[in-house]
Amino acid sequence: LFRSQFQDRSNSMGVNLANDAQLATLAAQIQAATGPWTAGPLVPGATSAGATVEVTSPADRRVRVGQWQAADGATVEQALRNATEAHADWNAVPAASRAAILEHAADLLESRTPDYIAMCTREAGKTIPDGVAEVREAVDFLRYYAAEARRLFVIEALPGPTGESNSLQLSGRGVFVCISPWNFPLAIFAGQIAAALAAGNTVIAKAAEQTTLVGHAAVKLLHEAGVPAHVLQYVPGDGASVGAALTADPRVAGVVFTGSNATALAINRALAARDGAIGTLIAETGGQNALIADSSALPEQLVKDALGSAFTSAGQRCSAARVLFVQDDIADKVIGMLSGAMQELTVGDPALLSTDVGPVIDADALRMLDAHAERMASEARLIATTPVGPEVAHGTFFAPRAWELQSLTQLQRENFGPALHVIRWKADQLDAVIDAINNTGYGLTLGIHSRIDETVEKISARARVGNVYVNRNQIGAVVGVQPFGGQRLSGTGPKAGGSHYLPRFTTEKTVTINT
Ligand code: GLU
Repeated sequence: LFRSQFQDRSNSMGVNLANDAQLATLAAQIQAATGPWTAGPLVPGATSAGATVEVTSPADRRVRVGQWQAADGATVEQALRNATEAHADWNAVPAASRAAILEHAADLLESRTPDYIAMCTREAGKTIPDGVAEVREAVDFLRYYAAEARRLFVIEALPGPTGESNSLQLSGRGVFVCISPWNFPLAIFAGQIAAALAAGNTVIAKAAEQTTLVGHAAVKLLHEAGVPAHVLQYVPGDGASVGAALTADPRVAGVVFTGSNATALAINRALAARDGAIGTLIAETGGQNALIADSSALPEQLVKDALGSAFTSAGQRCSAARVLFVQDDIADKVIGMLSGAMQELTVGDPALLSTDVGPVIDADALRMLDAHAERMASEARLIATTPVGPEVAHGTFFAPRAWELQSLTQLQRENFGPALHVIRWKADQLDAVIDAINNTGYGLTLGIHSRIDETVEKISARARVGNVYVNRNQIGAVVGVQPFGGQRLSGTGPKAGGSHYLPRFTTEKTVTINT
């Protein structure tokens, strides 16, 4: 059902999600690649390591996926030393050469698409269409930031009234720490690293603990493509030990982070508490994303887009729709259709092509969603629950659910999973709806379904969000053409996959010569 969401991008990678024969081959390759995979620190000169962590499948906790070894304190220290020492040389490599390495990594990744999808499916519970989109986006990020480095790293002559020769040039800031989320274990991970490397920084990367194996494989691929081992290092571990040790260290020039607002604030505080140069933080955090539909919306299209935006990737996207505001004239019809469509979703093994919704990432995520469902049971009206079969019994699955609420204030926080909320509004309440959305403090994505230009323009102008999508779904931003990222509680900017992103990883130098 959700294949069409990513159709355009998938075509350009040579995987056609509408081609059943090709998909069947891909699924067979993915099912054949069952691991087990292993990972550990990639830090030259490190002589010790921390605890070993067993990885099991979110779809079935009885299935072993692999294991990894955490970085201990001495390994983190070694990584910081290596990265600091390696910076000058990497920064001196011409940007075009750095770009060529990233482009080579993109080619390698593309040629190994099934292997990487398989890892995302096993470790993160990604469905096959999600896996295709994931690899596609990682490849796009690698190529995009390579192109950006070629474009930006030129010495810009600034002729002017001083009669001197003036020029402006960019260079890397130093050591960048990349801390990426489990929901895009390859795409966001590779995107952060590619931007930092392209701009002339050395990188210490820490994947989310839940997707350490995928992160390790991505770093190995970048090494194979030609990134020197001291220039890109990998330190598996949790945020409390590895992440905190990195962000507290004054040798780190900047941190790029995607995850919760609470963690972004903790990183910001850690950076601020250090002596020395002020650290750069680029953070992309959560959302409480709304979709506003007025009575001119086409119900079939609205329901398809609401469903796709809320439940693709099991709702585990920062961009996912959490609240559908539907005008009362069409509300009964839309709710009825939504409820019907939810009965048609297939929840189950993400490695099967028939699956629409896979598991949520882990037991903690499931607990939070179950607690939310319990609260909703007493505070909201249940619209529908997608039926699930006994095959989900051993995994961390949450059946997609939709509830009708009276007010957005009933949602206290982001519910990161397949949970949609519907609120009715009347013709004279549009301003109040926009205010309520802005008042959440979040500002990531907003969907609008309306055929009335003035309404679309009004909502777009007033909404304090990063990405507005009109008469379509509100997920799956395409690198380079739909720069992605929010404002306020949703992040610092600049937008990933946009032209302002790479400059944030650089420092500028003006050279003035008296000729
Ligand atoms: N860029 C993704 C999208 O547009 C979301 C990224 C995230 O979840 O952090 O769906």
